[in-house]
Parts: sequence; C-alpha cells; structure tokens
Amino acid sequence: MRERAVSGTLDGQGGMPGSTPTVVTQRNESSDFRAAFNAAQLAMAVVGRDGLVRSANHALGELLGTDPARLAGDPAADFTGLREDPRTWSAYREVLLGRRARLHCTRRLKRHGGRQGVWAEVIVTPLPDSCDTLLSVADISDRRDLRARLRHLRMHDPVTRLPNRSLFFERLTTALTTAADGRGSGRIGLCYLDLDGFKAINDTLGHRAGDRLLGAVARRLSECAAPGGHLVARLGGDEFALLVENSTGTQQLVDLAGCVQAALQRPFDVAGHRLAVSASIGVVERPAAGTHATELMQAADTTLYWAKADGKARWTLFDPERNAHRMTRQALSSTLRPAVERNEFVLQYQPLVGLGDGVVRGVEALVRWHHPQFGMLAPNRFIGLAEETGAIVPLGRWVLATACRQARHWQLSHPAEPIVVSVNVAVRQVWDSDLVADVAAILTETGLPPRLLQLELTESAVMGSAGRPLQQLQQLSDMGVAIAIDDFGTGYSNLAYLSRLPVSTLKLDGSFVRGFHSEEPPNPADETIVEALVQLAHRLGIKVTAECVESAEQAERLGRIGCDTGQGWFYSRPVPPDTISALLGAPGVRP
Ligand code: C2E
Ligand code: MG
Ligand code: MG
Repeated sequence: MRERAVSGTLDGQGGMPGSTPTVVTQRNESSDFRAAFNAAQLAMAVVGRDGLVRSANHALGELLGTDPARLAGDPAADFTGLREDPRTWSAYREVLLGRRARLHCTRRLKRHGGRQGVWAEVIVTPLPDSCDTLLSVADISDRRDLRARLRHLRMHDPVTRLPNRSLFFERLTTALTTAADGRGSGRIGLCYLDLDGFKAINDTLGHRAGDRLLGAVARRLSECAAPGGHLVARLGGDEFALLVENSTGTQQLVDLAGCVQAALQRPFDVAGHRLAVSASIGVVERPAAGTHATELMQAADTTLYWAKADGKARWTLFDPERNAHRMTRQALSSTLRPAVERNEFVLQYQPLVGLGDGVVRGVEALVRWHHPQFGMLAPNRFIGLAEETGAIVPLGRWVLATACRQARHWQLSHPAEPIVVSVNVAVRQVWDSDLVADVAAILTETGLPPRLLQLELTESAVMGSAGRPLQQLQQLSDMGVAIAIDDFGTGYSNLAYLSRLPVSTLKLDGSFVRGFHSEEPPNPADETIVEALVQLAHRLGIKVTAECVESAEQAERLGRIGCDTGQGWFYSRPVPPDTISALLGAPGVRP
C-alpha cells in the first residue's frame, strides 16, 4: 500500500493512519513528494531542529559516496562543512531554529570516510508546516572549474604559459598589502628584465622562432625562480619580471639577477639556430610599507633603462640619487618653456675689461633661472636641457631682448663710454630660428646700435658651418654685430678656417688661462702657445679675450703677451645690472 510505504517519512513524524478522503489526498501528496525527493537529481536531505539528518535522497548519497540511508542520524553540518565558518554556522543554526528564512552558501563537501568532496552550493530552508528544514546541495565543481580555467586563461600568457601582466600586478598588490600588515620581512624585491636585441631575432627569424625563444627563456627564468618560490611573469613583448615577496635585502635580488644572467648565457637552440641571448635587468629592493605597485614598477623601469644605457647585458641596482637627478632633469625640462613665459629667468652681467688699462669695454650676459622650487639655478643645469627640448629658442630670444634693452639703457646713461653687451647663442638658435630676423627686430625695438652687440658662439656651432649658419653669421656681421668664438681652444677649429668666417673676437677658454696661475709653477709651454695664438689671431685681425682671469698675476701675464681683454673673478663675478651701472660711474675697474 502506498500509504504504508510513506511511513517514517519526509516529515519524520511517521505515517498517520487515516481514512478520510482529505487525509488520503495528503498522504498521496506526501508520497508523491517522497518519490520525487528520492528521484531528484538535486541532492537533498531533511534535517531536524537538532541538525541531524532525518532522510537523505539518492543524489546526496551519491555525492558523498555512501548509501543515503546511512546518513540518517548524522549531523548535516559534518558533510557540508557548515561548522567551519563561524558566520555560516550561526546562520545555519538560526534557520534550524526557524528564526531565519534561508541560508545560501558555497562549501566544500566531505565525502563519506572524511575525504574531500566537490564544491557545492548549499541551500537550507525551513519546510512549510514542519519543524524540519530542507537542505539542498548542488555540485558546482564544473562551474568552478570553468571559472578557474577562464581566469587562468585571462591571467596567463599563451606563448610562455607564464603569469601575465594582470596576474603579476594582482600578486604584487597583494604582496604589498600583506607585507605592510607586518607578516613576513616587510620587504619586497623585483627583477625587471628585457632581452637585448630580441627585436632583431624576431625580425630575422620570424615570429614563430621569436615565440619559441620566449618560451625557452621563460623556462630558464622559472628554473631560477623555483627554489625561492618567486613569481615569474611575462609583462609583454620581451619583458619579464621576477617578484620576490618577503625579500631579505638587496643581496638576495642581486643573487637572483646573477642567476638569471648566467641562465641566459647558455645558448638557445631554436628553429635550427643556435642563438646567444642576453638581458638587461633593473633590480629594485625596498621596504613594502609606503610603496605602491606603480611606483615600484616605475623605479624598476628606470633602473632597467639605466642597465640598457650602461651597455646592456647587465643588471643595475636602483639608485635613489641617480633617480632624483633624473626627476629634477625631467621636472626642469618640462617647465622650461612655461618658465620663460612666467619670467623666471634673470640676467647677470660680467665685465669684459681691457687688460692694458683696466677699463670696462663690455659685459657678458649670463642667464640664471630663479626657480620657484629649486632656487637660483646656474646655466649648466638647464641650458643643455633647453637645447635638447628646443626651449632655448624662446629663452635665447628673451636673453637677447633683455640684454639689448639693458645695454641701450647703459648707453643712454653713459654716452661717453658705451659698453658692448655680449650674448651667448646656442647652436640650435642658429639652426631652428631666424636669428638674423630676431636680432634685427630686437635692435630696432630697443634702439641699440648693432656695434654695441656681440654674439658668442661656440667653436662647434661654427665649425664646418656652411649654408645657413655661415649665411646668418655673414648677415649679422654685415649688420655691424660682432661675432665672438666662445671657449676657444676646447674644440678642434683651426685659426685659418676661422679667419674665413666673420669672427672679430676669440674668447680663450679658461683651461688655457689656468696655466698662468701664480701658485703653480708657470708652465712655459702654455705661455708660448697662447702667445703664438694671440699673435696669429692679431695678424688675422681677430681680438683675444681671456676667460677665467682670477688673479693679478694672470692678468699681468695675459696682458704682456698681448691679450686684449680679460674676464673673470679677478675683476668681478657675474653681478646684477645695478652693480654694473654703479661700476660704470667709476673711472675704471682697476686703477
Ligand atoms: P661661458 O659663456 O663660457 O661663460 C663664462 C662662464 O665662466 C660663466 O659661467 C662665468 O660665471 C664663469 N666665470 C667667469 N669668470 C670666472 C672665473 O674667474 N673663474 C671661474 N672658474 N669661472 C668664471 P656661468 O654663468 O655658469 O655660465 C656657464 C655657461 O652657460 C656659459 O659659459 C655659457 O656657455 C652658458 N650660458 C650662460 N648664459 C647663457 C645664455 O643666455 N644663453 C646660452 N646659450 N648659454 C648661456
Ligand atoms: Mg660665453
Ligand atoms: Mg666661455
């Protein structure tokens, strides 16, 4: 009889003998439910208030590797692992006691005999009109596997099978936060490497060979990283990174970099070719606290760049000082142009003095950058950068205009003995701007006579100059502007060549003048050379100015061998324009 079969059933109350049609209907429903319960694909159990299984279906027995009948009387929490997480455990008990409507969680099942079972989605809900609850367990291992496989694909590089950039950053970020928690050494290290000349291999042997080489490189990197359990990732192209969590110090990273270098030194046999490969490695190691992933990568990137710049096939250690220098360079170079517009530059002037009579003949305009952050910067900090970036063109134009305006002012205030202003001109100004037009416009604007302007160009700017630079020099000279060769003697120009250029003055480099110092025994060879140089220049109609005159002794000797003017600390350091104005009021700098 069907009713009988239901005894000891689902509701756990046992079958109630009944004869009314209503009861029969209930019984039938109950037995139908029972049949459905047993036949269901979804694993289920009815659990009493006490948490013990009252009945379990076949599907659950199968999932747990046991006969469902043997589950009766067991705590359901045992095979569902519900007790392992305190929050889940308390929620589960709430449901059992009827104080909560539902528990939904993901647990790893325990199979009969204690072995780990599959991952499952566990749902516990009270049964209507009963003190019991229904526990259902859905095997989600396929879904989890699929998700894990998709994640693996997303996080790994198909060519080398190594973790990719995404996974690397995930691990790095986690490592930084855990290290900051105070577990482990609290330090982190990174070897960031790039294969030297990989592009050439790729281009000549093809991408397939390139990929195989990358795969082989990845295997060797993994061999180096395996003993320490470090993460090896391919960050893209031919870039790899080895992450050392809880590093013990720089030495550990240096050792690892050395291992990598040695591992890559063995030749690679790829696609029938024997290939020699080397790598440049940037090594960074530091405390994790206060370090951000992007910042660490930036440091590693900079260090790798140094390794390349230092000659490749080597590792280089991050150097904060070198980095600060780079940052300042970067900061300076990016703010040069706006600084011209913001008027952050000032000119100082250094007198050019007649060696025979001590009279000021002119001044050289020397630019300084009054930087809002770094203070007063000397030109050697920024002129090179300005040349690289092209900012020298607007800056040079500003210098020229300011110096000419100042010179015109001096001319008007001291009409009896006007002084020449000498302005430095960078090579790039000659090539990249219309220097002639600029000079002409500025002279017109300021009213300065061309003969009171001298332009200083270095030897390299005029050497071998043909075409545009030579034409410009000629035009400037034709206008009446004087041309001087700055730092003469440091390049390779010869006087015969210079004589063909419209040059009126040579500024003898300080290194020549140094030999004239009284404290050292005077070097007769220096004196002979300079004397011959001066004589030759004079014969070609060129005047000579000596730079870096620091003592009376030097001034005296330079004067004796025929130099025309001197410039240097002996007379005056570069000074603000007002100081020059005061000086011009006096009869001569040196009596
Ligand atoms: P420079 O044209 O050879 O200028 C002479 C440099 O020697 C100046 O350095 C000056 O301060 C320094 N000096 C002068 N007398 C003495 C001395 O007795 N002993 C020593 N040891 N040094 C002395 P400063 O002002 O630092 O300028 C350095 C260089 O920067 C200049 O060398 C010039 O090449 C460049 N420069 C300066 N202003 C400008 C500019 O407006 N435009 C361009 N393109 N370059 C400039
Ligand atoms: Mg100069
Ligand atoms: Mg000079």
